[in-house]
Amino acid sequence: MIKIFDSMSKTKKELTTNKIVDLYLCGPTVYNYIHIGNIRPVLVLDVLHRLLLHQEFQVNYVHNITDIDDKIIHQAEKEQVTESELSEKYLQAYLADLKMLNILIPKKMPKVTDFIPENIKFIEELVTKKYAYVAGSDVYFQVDKISSYGTLSNKNPNELMPNARISNKENKVSAFDFALWKDTKVGINWESPWGKGRPGWHTECVVFINKEFAGKTINLHGGGIDLKFPHHENERAQFLAATNQELANIWWHNGHINLASEKMSKSLNNVILVKDFCQQYHPFVLRYLILNHDHQQPIDFTEQLIIEAVSTIKKYHGFLQLWSYNTFVSEIEIQQKQYHESYYQSIVTYLSDNINTTNTFAVISNMIKDLNQALNKKDFSTDNQNIFSTLVFALEILGFNFEFGNYSEEIKAKIKEWEELKVKKDFKKADLVRSELQNLGILPKN
Ligand SMILES: [Zn+2]
Repeated sequence: MIKIFDSMSKTKKELTTNKIVDLYLCGPTVYNYIHIGNIRPVLVLDVLHRLLLHQEFQVNYVHNITDIDDKIIHQAEKEQVTESELSEKYLQAYLADLKMLNILIPKKMPKVTDFIPENIKFIEELVTKKYAYVAGSDVYFQVDKISSYGTLSNKNPNELMPNARISNKENKVSAFDFALWKDTKVGINWESPWGKGRPGWHTECVVFINKEFAGKTINLHGGGIDLKFPHHENERAQFLAATNQELANIWWHNGHINLASEKMSKSLNNVILVKDFCQQYHPFVLRYLILNHDHQQPIDFTEQLIIEAVSTIKKYHGFLQLWSYNTFVSEIEIQQKQYHESYYQSIVTYLSDNINTTNTFAVISNMIKDLNQALNKKDFSTDNQNIFSTLVFALEILGFNFEFGNYSEEIKAKIKEWEELKVKKDFKKADLVRSELQNLGILPKN
């Protein structure tokens, strides 16, 4: 049974009672390169995705792409391209980041601009049901029609946003009402019953969920903690209005990444881009650094964390190489898919308990400790080989697909040559061959 912490009830809830899991994650607005704070929820849910696939669940994972909004319109003007050229460029950059970080691609990644008629239809429905009203060429959702508004974010609407009441310049019933359809004069727009405009951000996600999951309550809706209010609160309100059902059984939110004690944010110009980080360090360094934290807590991104992550990734890869090298020398074939029962159980149990990746890394350390002792004794018993297979499994379910073993004939000959030189005590030549093997990535570097 997989349990995940739900932000609304503040309890761990069972993800699903059958073998089907419907997941939705709020994706990026593709107007720029993404930063490492943006990738955190995607990386954590990637581990959940992998766990579910491993346990043979049918995973319906939808991750939207916001390809139209004010930021896109402004940036397109700045770069002197059309909105669709701009969003396509940054969508491709985003997909390249996902690939680089070895993130499994969700089943569907819908774009808003492909769903404009569905958005209009959904808004019309809310207007007909009197949850939304037309004001000029805009359409607003009337928040006070939902009695439980504020429950998800644990906020009382009357105490919320004191400035909102003052800034209610639009023709809104209440300052908290939010736009479902926006009249737009600048940039791309679409015809609608209310005039030319575009859908609001809070509406697009509900429309995707309503459409892709046929109006059913989904198992889990995820996103960064800053999306809880107002974005997710507003998604929930619209879904309740349209279907009289809760949008999600579990609302999952991850903590921020702070840089120099401040939240990483494009608007604060306080960001490290994923592509820049991964140019300087191996992408697995970022994956490890993010996953080695409780996903609900903030991460204070420091130089020290990077140093530790670099060293751990080097240790993992080095150990895999060392073990596969030694088993080759000892003429032992690495067994596949034979797991060490208790280590395997620990890994699956930790990950099933609110995606506890940090404890999973602790299990990995213990396995490496055991296997290092086995290496010292040249003990390649079935039990130890099973621990090795389980180690590879643990790394893979966390999304690390290190390359090791699978030696070519040429490399096999080189390994034999080194072993023979050592037997002959020709250490000078042996050292040269060893450094060749290190440079080829066959042996870990010291
Ligand atoms: Zn969303």
